[in-house]
Amino acid sequence: MRSNIVAGNWKMNNDLAASNALVHEIMNQVAELTLENTRVIVAPTFVNLSSVVEVAKESAVEVAAQNMHQAASGAFTGEISGEMLKGIGIESVILGHSERRAYFGEDDALLAEKVNGALKNNLEVIFCFGEELEDRKSDNHFNVVESQLKNGVFHLEAAAWKNIVLAYEPVWAIGTGETASPEQAQEMHAFIRNLIVDTYGAEVANEVSILYGGSVKPANATEIFSNPDVDGGLIGGAALNADDFVSLVKSF
Ligand code: PEP
Repeated sequence: MRSNIVAGNWKMNNDLAASNALVHEIMNQVAELTLENTRVIVAPTFVNLSSVVEVAKESAVEVAAQNMHQAASGAFTGEISGEMLKGIGIESVILGHSERRAYFGEDDALLAEKVNGALKNNLEVIFCFGEELEDRKSDNHFNVVESQLKNGVFHLEAAAWKNIVLAYEPVWAIGTGETASPEQAQEMHAFIRNLIVDTYGAEVANEVSILYGGSVKPANATEIFSNPDVDGGLIGGAALNADDFVSLVKSF
């Protein structure tokens, strides 16, 4: 059975002390819950990963990276490889976030290489994708999402999908306060699952967790997460506050 997942992307926020304090608070609150088939993941910035892994070890809170380089090692100044992440106890990596695509020029071809690099190191990939506002206004959102998925992850063999989590994040809803309606989210998530069925079959498709991301907060989480094809969320702003973040976990 696929898992529900609430994953917090801390982006370039929180210094070392704030990162440790936030994960500590999240851990304490999560320890009070009975998590039934629900995973809780936080993604601090690179420099604080080791420390947060140490604080969170032996808790139910998992730690992911926000990005990685596709190569194993070499002359890539300033970059971090999958092997390095694995070496400090990281099990998952977010790839393809719209901010990486928009501000750092990450395209589908590069992301496919990063996905391969991550899987080679046995890292789980949280693969992000989603349309811009113009795509939705011109009714092109399904085409855009299909192409991002086909180019980014549909080259994989069926067996690799056990390490893939998808995160549909309409760019117009990220950090804007504007959320896709529960109907819009379900419609797109069902479309995505059907694409997986068409290529890999129902067995693979039913096991893939598909997260929604875009201004999810305590006030709208239950409505969005209760859709049959929405298996949780990738959370930005609301992940920076332990009470808000854990209340999203409770909304399952
Ligand atoms: C995100 O950046 O992935 C995101 C969903 O941000 P927010 O929740 O702030 O919209």
